[in-house]
Amino acid sequence: MADCLFCKIRDGQIPYKGVYQDDRCFAFEDINPQAPTHVLVVPREHVATANDVPALDAAGEALVGHLFAVAAKLAAERGVDGPGYRLVMNCNAGAGQTVFHLHLHLLGGRRFGWPPG
Ligand code: AMP
Ligand code: ZN
Repeated sequence: MADCLFCKIRDGQIPYKGVYQDDRCFAFEDINPQAPTHVLVVPREHVATANDVPALDAAGEALVGHLFAVAAKLAAERGVDGPGYRLVMNCNAGAGQTVFHLHLHLLGGRRFGWPPG
């Protein structure tokens, strides 16, 4: 999608620090990390927000599950699975979404408060 930051990263138009990729998604270090581990897991397909997930077909729903599987795998690789980590998907501006291409934040390596800010 034109003018989408994560589509541009996917297409190699913007440099990024990749940590994982497969045929359905890719993951890279967040440019403004909020924790010692802060990785974004992003579907290759452009989906704008979580609001669009119900309209996806079965493969699209499976893709969203795949994002969680990849995030858990990366958490284990980084040793944050035992202490605990947070998976965040902000939906729309009121929740803090700034890039309108679906992505899962993997945050770990510190304690997290609740409720979230
Ligand atoms: P959100 O606010 O949930 O939409 O998350 C977007 C995330 O993308 C933020 O945590 C940003 O720090 C991150 N971000 C923005 N631009 C880049 C970039 N060029 N490379 C890596 N992460 C980025
Ligand atoms: Zn996109």
